[in-house]
Amino acid sequence: MTVNNGVTPGFTLHTGCVFSGKTEALIKELNETPYKKYEYLLIRPASEKKKTQNQVTTHSGMVLIADPIQQASDVLYRDLSKFQIIAFDAMQFFDIGIVDVVRKLVRDGKRVIGTGINLTWEEKPFGSMPLLLTYATSIETHMAVCSVCGEGNASRSQRIVDSTEEMLIGNNYHEARCVEHYVTD
Ligand SMILES: [Zn+2]
Repeated sequence: MTVNNGVTPGFTLHTGCVFSGKTEALIKELNETPYKKYEYLLIRPASEKKKTQNQVTTHSGMVLIADPIQQASDVLYRDLSKFQIIAFDAMQFFDIGIVDVVRKLVRDGKRVIGTGINLTWEEKPFGSMPLLLTYATSIETHMAVCSVCGEGNASRSQRIVDSTEEMLIGNNYHEARCVEHYVTD
C-alpha cells in the first residue's frame, strides 16, 4: 500500500434519493477539515448527459470542475500521483467496473469519496450501488424533504413524468418522497 501524505485510505459513500444533498455533502467534505489540505480529483460519469460535461453542480448552486469519464476503468489510466482524494459524483451511473476501481484506489492509499442514488424510480437497487455500499468504509445516508407531506424523511425518488428511461436526469422529472408517499405500480 502506498501512503499518500497522511490521508487515511478508505471509501466514504454519500447515498440517498434525489434532492437529498449528497453532492453538497461531498463538496463540503472536500472543502473542510480533515480533507481540505489534500489535492482531489473529481470525476463524473460522461453517460449522464449534461449541458456542461466538466462540472458538478448542486441544487443549491455550488459548482466544481469535474472530469467526465466514459468507463470507470478510465480513471486508472490517469496520473493520480498528485491526488490524495479521488471523488466520484453520481456513482450509480458508472459501469460495474467502478467497484474494482474503488477497491484498487483504496488499496493504493487513496481516500475515495462518492455520491450515489440508492434506488431507481422503480425502487430497484441503482446500478452498482449495492456493491459499492458493501465496500464502503463509511456510509452517510441523506434524506430529502418529501414533496407531499413536507417531512424531512424522503428516501425514494418518485418519477413524475411518463418515461421509463433510466438515465433521465434533472429537477423536472423526479420528486423526493417518503415511503408513505412513494407510489409504485
Ligand atoms: Zn411524505
